[in-house]
Amino acid sequence: MNRTKEALLEVKGLKKHFPYKKGMFSKETGSVRAVDGLDFTVYRGETLGIVGESGCGKSTTGQLILQLLEPTEGEIWFEGKNLSSLNKTDLRELRQHLQMIFQDPYSSLNPRMRVEDIVSEPLRIHGLYQGKELRERVVALLRLVGLDEHHLSRHPHEFSGGQRQRIGIARALALNPSLIVCDEPVSALDVSIQSQVLNLLKKLQKELGLTYIFIAHGLPAVKHISDRIAVMYLGKIVELAERDELFANPSHPYTEALLSAVPIPDPTQRKERIILQGDLPNPANPPSGCHFHTRCPYVQDLCRQKAPELTTRSAGHVVACHFPLGHE
Ligand code: SF4
Repeated sequence: MNRTKEALLEVKGLKKHFPYKKGMFSKETGSVRAVDGLDFTVYRGETLGIVGESGCGKSTTGQLILQLLEPTEGEIWFEGKNLSSLNKTDLRELRQHLQMIFQDPYSSLNPRMRVEDIVSEPLRIHGLYQGKELRERVVALLRLVGLDEHHLSRHPHEFSGGQRQRIGIARALALNPSLIVCDEPVSALDVSIQSQVLNLLKKLQKELGLTYIFIAHGLPAVKHISDRIAVMYLGKIVELAERDELFANPSHPYTEALLSAVPIPDPTQRKERIILQGDLPNPANPPSGCHFHTRCPYVQDLCRQKAPELTTRSAGHVVACHFPLGHE
């Protein structure tokens, strides 16, 4: 990809804490730190993969970017504008250029609506097309995703999982977005269908100049579509690098463990899978110091006492670890 390096989205100090009461009759409160201080930029035309286990805050990050949740702290700048400083009209206008493709095409499409109504809904809400032009626009969108005019009058249950995801993609494209947050868009699909949908997303990116944030729980899913990859753990980015650099030189022990689970196509090569001990800690009560220290095979005393900052390892490659891999 010939990336222009023009920033489309900038996330600065982003936090989302969900408050809760510690007991039914208790006045004491706590908070789940779902997203706990994110800083990253997404460049126009690229795909940024965001990877981490369930509960690491990656989907909450997507919802914050799409303004479906209000941040506790921090700023989101899109197309040079701070979204929290916009009035309702301007935000509504800009929001058209931010869309989402959901994980589950079975539940994200209204089963009672026909495909024509599903795909045309955003256009009707924004009053962009009417009558014959509206129908023509919907047919054009369906063709873009490999469906056709004869699908217009059908209902979601008449389609396969892959076709339903294509309908969801057509709907996401309706308002000519510049950024699409893809929240695990293939994880509910059969493996044979996954690559078809990924190839479609790549084709659309090329044809329409789209920018993607691609959220997934494992590295295999983001490997073939991402230009850069951010690895998240308990609400924070622990490593971010160009895809090839991340795969060749992982610096964070958590990334190393995720990478060890990626199958190698060459049967003559073997690698040992690193099994992390224990579950993801409770984000309402994260471990002291480095949040990963309870599961890290390289933990030292400093790790329990002091949280590591994101530091630059090489150009475009940052890592939050006191003892990054490959360093003495
Ligand atoms: Fe492991 Fe320590 Fe690095 Fe955290 S800071 S990832 S515990 S080595």
